[in-house]
Amino acid sequence: MSRLVLKSPAKINLFLKVLNKRNDGFHNIETLFQRVDLCDQITFQTNSSGNIKISSDHRDVPCGKKNLVYQVYALLKKEHKAVKGVDVKIDKFIPVAAGMAGGSSNAASALIGFNKIFDLGLSSAQLLAYARMLGSDIAFFLYDTNWAVGTGKGDQIRPLDIGVKLWQVVVVPCVKVYSAEVYKAHNLQLTKRNDDVNILIYNLKKKDINAVGSLLQNDLEDAIIRICPKLLRLKEALKLFDTQGVMISGSGPSVFGLTRSQCEAQKTATEMLKRYTRVYVVRTR
Ligand code: ATP
Repeated sequence: MSRLVLKSPAKINLFLKVLNKRNDGFHNIETLFQRVDLCDQITFQTNSSGNIKISSDHRDVPCGKKNLVYQVYALLKKEHKAVKGVDVKIDKFIPVAAGMAGGSSNAASALIGFNKIFDLGLSSAQLLAYARMLGSDIAFFLYDTNWAVGTGKGDQIRPLDIGVKLWQVVVVPCVKVYSAEVYKAHNLQLTKRNDDVNILIYNLKKKDINAVGSLLQNDLEDAIIRICPKLLRLKEALKLFDTQGVMISGSGPSVFGLTRSQCEAQKTATEMLKRYTRVYVVRTR
């Protein structure tokens, strides 16, 4: 029997441009992914049951077929005889349904983990193909990089070599926002500025936090705020503190404020904790 423990990190999108709607109903986007140091921990332990058993310390994490880790297992088991029984324990630290891609990250960890413990010998290209079958955000987590541009559905990944470590305060309000609903509500005519993600990347490489803060972009923000107007108040509250820029991450509802230092992030978090329960200080991994 073998055992493997993996960290499964969250992401924040610093830039998200919606380009157009595709024939398959999804949208083509251009996004900048940042991997942050807020991580789940996943423990894989092979067993003799011939099946998967998922457990989690978080009540909102489904332990059956709805769990993306289960779906990865089912997909691999169908095609590879070497896939046997396994216990998977998910210690959740990434807020669930927040737009930080916790489930997608867990799915990527499962692809990497099952490939190792069952000795499947799958190549990076094969793992990527499986990732794309299950969701758009999974691919990014298969790359050993903290930064990447995602195009297509967000699953075409170009890793970036950026050395800066950013501090951010993330606030996750207790509201549900569904990605499909957000994309439906997004008006493509409103695709905002003609900003180029390369200008943001250039300033990240220069470590110009001020410029980075002013270049944050999320085309989905208007739609998200229309669905959930409370988020505007949250954004305004974060702007009152030492933040260089405030933005909703992905399709929400998490809102992050970029700060110049850990100290500023911590002070802002202390203030936000007076009104919100899910507040996190995170840094680029
Ligand atoms: P994304 O940004 O990829 O759209 P998210 O961060 O908004 O995802 P997740 O935390 O991934 O949201 O959870 C979304 C839903 O997915 C949850 O409500 C949960 O029912 C389901 N889910 C499936 N697998 C997992 C998992 N391993 N961890 C957390 N949620 C999961």
